[in-house]
Amino acid sequence: MVKAARVLVIGSSNMDFTVAVPRLPVEGETITGGRFYVSHGGKGANQAVAARRLGADVHFVGCVGQDPPGDQVADQLRAEGIPTEGLIHVGEAATGVALIMVDAAGRNQIAVASGANLALLPDQAEQHVSLVTWAQVLLCQLEIPIPTVEWALAAGRERGVLTILNPAPAQPLPDALLPLVDCLTPNASEAETLTGLAVRGPETAARAAQHLLARGVRRVIVTLGTQGVLFCDGSSALHFPAFPVDAVDTTGAGDAFNGALAVGLAVGGTWEEALPLANAAAALACTRHGAQTSFPRRAEVEAFMRRLKH
Ligand code: ADP
Repeated sequence: MVKAARVLVIGSSNMDFTVAVPRLPVEGETITGGRFYVSHGGKGANQAVAARRLGADVHFVGCVGQDPPGDQVADQLRAEGIPTEGLIHVGEAATGVALIMVDAAGRNQIAVASGANLALLPDQAEQHVSLVTWAQVLLCQLEIPIPTVEWALAAGRERGVLTILNPAPAQPLPDALLPLVDCLTPNASEAETLTGLAVRGPETAARAAQHLLARGVRRVIVTLGTQGVLFCDGSSALHFPAFPVDAVDTTGAGDAFNGALAVGLAVGGTWEEALPLANAAAALACTRHGAQTSFPRRAEVEAFMRRLKH
């Protein structure tokens, strides 16, 4: 029997409260006629679910509050087959919440209260260091305190675990952090924030990647929306085009990409295998609404890739 990939995500989880509105309000305005729905979010939980749907064994380390949304996050992870021993219920803060308004054209306004996600300090994460030892790949984002991200990457590096950092949401990073990263996966605007260089396509992405390699990252993978992805490791730059799909909602595309990349690399895949797998999972996620609701399962991704080869 083939052993499953082992992926650890250390990151955020939120409850997303969305009102789909006829149009976005201006300051001070009330819009009626909306439709309300609740979904699960946070880049950490999203990427954990994306990896799990592709068949990996996934653990998640994060903080939620001691409140009903915190219990719902735990239930949702368990329903996906992700154990919750790494989910810490803290008393001092509420579960992270995103309030989202989205109009018919997909434009949105989002307010986030990070809440318990900011309580995930290095001491807290360290209680679950055995999960770092267990993992083949460690995947982090930037919705938890940066010192915790730095601790996690260092713990992964010490143990020979492949470290992936998705630097989202965009923010400048300390110099000490970047050399701990095996694969940095910015999208175009995050690559711009990190380097100050405009990123418009594969060529400009390669230039930004050189900057980041010079700061100590081992490999840079810039996602470029419909232009696919640019991989750079200092000796080669490879461009993998996106898969053509009828996109209806690109929310969560980056999360689908990162979760799939972690799975592809954990099973020892080459870049020529792992990057198309991640592009395919992300493309399929664009064909459905929502984030976690849109992430494909392994069989669907494989069938999609087979169809495109013929
Ligand atoms: P983010 O969602 O973080 O802004 P991108 O827009 O770069 O990141 O998208 C991440 C990946 O999702 C891309 O590299 C690509 O593989 C895939 N993707 C995004 N938009 C589309 C699309 N319209 N069609 C096909 N694939 C897409």
